[in-house]
Amino acid sequence: MQRPPLALILLAWLAAAPAFAAPVGQDPAILRAVQSVSAARLRATDEHLVAFGTRSTLSTTAAPGRGVLAARDWIASQFRLIAAGTAGRMTVTLDGYTQKADGKRIPHDTLISSVVATLRGDEPGGRTYVMSSHYDSRNSDVTDGTADAPGADDNGSGTAAVLEAARVLAHLPIHATIIFATYDAEEQGLFGSAHHAQALKAAGADIQGDLNNDIIGASTGDNGQTDSGTVRIFSEALPAGADPRKVNILGTENDSPSRELARFAQSTGDLYVPGLHGTLIFRADRFLRGGDQESFTDAGYPAIRFVEPAETFAHQHQNVRLEGGVQYGDLLRFMDFSYLAQVTRTNVAVLAALASGPGRPAHAAILVKDLTNDTTLTWSPVPGAARYEILRRATTDATWTSSTNVGNTTSATLPFSKDDWLFGIRAVDAEGHAGVAAFPNPKK
Ligand SMILES: [Zn+2]
Repeated sequence: MQRPPLALILLAWLAAAPAFAAPVGQDPAILRAVQSVSAARLRATDEHLVAFGTRSTLSTTAAPGRGVLAARDWIASQFRLIAAGTAGRMTVTLDGYTQKADGKRIPHDTLISSVVATLRGDEPGGRTYVMSSHYDSRNSDVTDGTADAPGADDNGSGTAAVLEAARVLAHLPIHATIIFATYDAEEQGLFGSAHHAQALKAAGADIQGDLNNDIIGASTGDNGQTDSGTVRIFSEALPAGADPRKVNILGTENDSPSRELARFAQSTGDLYVPGLHGTLIFRADRFLRGGDQESFTDAGYPAIRFVEPAETFAHQHQNVRLEGGVQYGDLLRFMDFSYLAQVTRTNVAVLAALASGPGRPAHAAILVKDLTNDTTLTWSPVPGAARYEILRRATTDATWTSSTNVGNTTSATLPFSKDDWLFGIRAVDAEGHAGVAAFPNPKK
């Protein structure tokens, strides 16, 4: 490509009137969905889940009305009630298989059975987003399928959020497809989500993001302090298969597709959910802990995890008991359903914005053929895009600090040195929905 003279580039740049990371306006349809999230319904769902006594993956032979399969059947029935009003746009399936005993957390061959609802978008091509959670629970001994394991927060909270999001999004017209997943066997080793993510990968599914929700329903932590205005958003640094030597040379350690999704989630939450702010944590997960988002990142898909601001470890993975004056166990009374509603609203806003707007530009590239002090970016056109924006930040900044409209094109040259700045490219549709930024790879 012939590069225009720098003076012309500068004039074009000034004419573009760079905005300071201006958020696009709210979409009234998305706002209506966000505002219809109900804390009372979330509470009712969580109470129902806890009433199964245990949802341990190993409780498959529990009495009627108790155990993981009773919970699974109830969750599926709830999804089917929602799907019944969607004129066939939403379908509900069980994703199951028998996991062989592994001598560790699966002591005997065990049915793993997840519930997955799919809400089809109207766009050809199959672009898909996932909202995930796990509905299984555990107590102190992860191989104990008998004792009570209420799992109100871990992860009745995430399961209730996924059902509620499916409910409020079922009637929203969307372009991309949304999968609402409640996985089994997270506590035994991410078996349910791994099975599903690998099946999606084998089918060549275009999963552009997973929002995993696990422990999102309590606002008071171990320290006794309440913070109902924060949710943590974890994201991995490097995508599967990244070459650490290249990452080191190019300075791409802070721009995995998962991290761009996390930035999108933070800014979209801020736009639609007053009173709750996503804190970006630049880590895949907390120390000593993991979650179903790893099944997606392992499959090469972008994924982030939402977690409450400060956990109480006496309430997680513990038999219900009073010991030394301390109440152990994952009980309903420690939940804050107003807080859970806020985190659910953020998920609804992010999912709706993702599925209503355009996808991530493919083949995003930064041209490095010649030594220059400006930057040329190229990308492939995105279905539904009316124009594109170039995002920019200093290498020491955590989030994008400026965005510039470059019109409906697939290349742009900017008067900023690629040696000194980081860039992202995002598509914007005619209604003003902006998509997730793509981080450009060097191209000669
Ligand atoms: Zn969990």
